[in-house]
Amino acid sequence: MNIAILGAGISGLSAAYRLGQLIPDATIRLFDRRSRCGGVLETLNRDGFQIEQSADNFITTIPWGVQLCKELGLGDQLVQTNPLVRRTYVVRRGRLYLLPDGFLMMAPTKLLPMALTPILSPIGKLRAGLELFIPARKNDIDESMAHFVRRRLGREVFERLVEPLVSGVYAADMEKLSVLATLPRFREMERDHGSLIRAMQKQLAANRAAHLAEQSGARYSMFVTLRNGLSTLCDALVTKLPPDTLQVGQEVTKIKKTPEGSWIVETKSSDSQTTSATNTAHFDAVILAISVQESSRLLTDSVPELAGKLARIKHEGTAIATFAFHSNQIKQSFRGMGFVVPKIEQSPILAGSFSSLKYEHRAPKEKFLIRIFAGGDRSPELAELPDDRLLPILLSELRKIIKIEGEPLFTVVSHWSQTMPQYHVCHRELVQEIESLTASDPTLALAGNAFHGVGIPNCIQSGFQAAEKLATSLSQYCPVVTE
Ligand SMILES: Cc1cc2nc3c(=O)[nH]c(=O)nc-3n(C[C@H](O)[C@H](O)[C@H](O)COP(=O)(O)OP(=O)(O)OC[C@H]3O[C@@H](n4cnc5c(N)ncnc54)[C@H](O)[C@@H]3O)c2cc1C
Repeated sequence: MNIAILGAGISGLSAAYRLGQLIPDATIRLFDRRSRCGGVLETLNRDGFQIEQSADNFITTIPWGVQLCKELGLGDQLVQTNPLVRRTYVVRRGRLYLLPDGFLMMAPTKLLPMALTPILSPIGKLRAGLELFIPARKNDIDESMAHFVRRRLGREVFERLVEPLVSGVYAADMEKLSVLATLPRFREMERDHGSLIRAMQKQLAANRAAHLAEQSGARYSMFVTLRNGLSTLCDALVTKLPPDTLQVGQEVTKIKKTPEGSWIVETKSSDSQTTSATNTAHFDAVILAISVQESSRLLTDSVPELAGKLARIKHEGTAIATFAFHSNQIKQSFRGMGFVVPKIEQSPILAGSFSSLKYEHRAPKEKFLIRIFAGGDRSPELAELPDDRLLPILLSELRKIIKIEGEPLFTVVSHWSQTMPQYHVCHRELVQEIESLTASDPTLALAGNAFHGVGIPNCIQSGFQAAEKLATSLSQYCPVVTE
């Protein structure tokens, strides 16, 4: 059995790893156009600093990230966020204010901090409190994040709290972002409890009771990272693959399904020095773990209907700028691990993270590392801007928010063009249509961040599911192929 996997990011690596477990005698080829595996995940070590060039941690409430780390023997390298700064700031008129204690992404669990926060006006607070009395929508019709939050909690909570928090994750336009595809549990809370505030309070009480009952066993903070960087997760996956599986520096230029049902995969070296000829090879099945735009292009000839639907999922680009300082250049102290910036502040910054406060191992003693997230739907042009133009814009904006003296010791910028899928309203329906088209082909599976979640644990799960689909379907289908 020969299986090709396109894309050696965390999704493709997870697919290859699981496939190797499920069909140990299969020949797997994992192609990536870049010269290294990991996709957007890339850890850089410089002058004692540890710099994550894209994702810098992952959520623990979705289990596949923590589980995979443990399975690979990396459990003792999981690092929790610094308990002393587990809060987030929101920028208002250029100044940092702590998010009201107990405000979780979309709704408050505690009323007093909401009543006291300087981030909202008295009218904004009153409107948020009315949420307890607003009739619940019981149907399953999708709506935008903006519409949902304004409907339940009012315009101010949306503009000042939810919009910046959700933008910091999805880099999306909240007027288009689907609430059912991104944070469906808040719609479930509305349906089941009639109010988000009531539901959050009940959940908090239940969590407290569960925490008291469960005194033993490791509990993780909401986010964790790996001590030696997230690249170590990708490297650990590679060590579990048979030699020759990973084919880096190989761009897949074409794929074609033969009338017999196998796939022809055409590759060429992505090394710009070599104008190498293309190679073609036959595979029994393929997993596409690349961006859906690229998948759409490659599938246009063989499966045009699927290609058309994949092309409907739009992407935005983002940029991460990391600034290294001496601690004494930062002229204030912090009680939070980062900040988010509302769109109405009209800032080029989406969010910022005090990297070396959040995870103390990321900078040498008496040094300070800050990373800035920019671009997305709010200002897509920033993702593409050359470093020498982007850096002064971001640094001068950062200086307006926090007091910084002097110039950074060094800066690192990474651009991630067209890597953030945008889960627009009715995304779930589109994904269902895509999945029913792939379900009818036992030799094709899709993985990646465009379907059921953009985070690392979701990508790992997507890779596992793609592998499981092929393992099951090929075990029924292959006798026909070999006859
Ligand atoms: C800036 C940024 C910050 C993020 N922060 C977080 C975070 O803090 N926490 C979190 O959980 N998630 C975060 N994410 C999301 C998460 O990191 C990604 O969704 C995830 O890593 C995507 O993995 P992937 O394997 O699906 O895709 P990718 O990592 O994009 O990998 C796809 C691979 O396919 C290869 N490829 C594409 N086309 C071809 C071709 N034709 N032939 C061969 N190879 C090809 C590419 O070179 C690439 O290596 C962030 C993402 C970004 C961009």
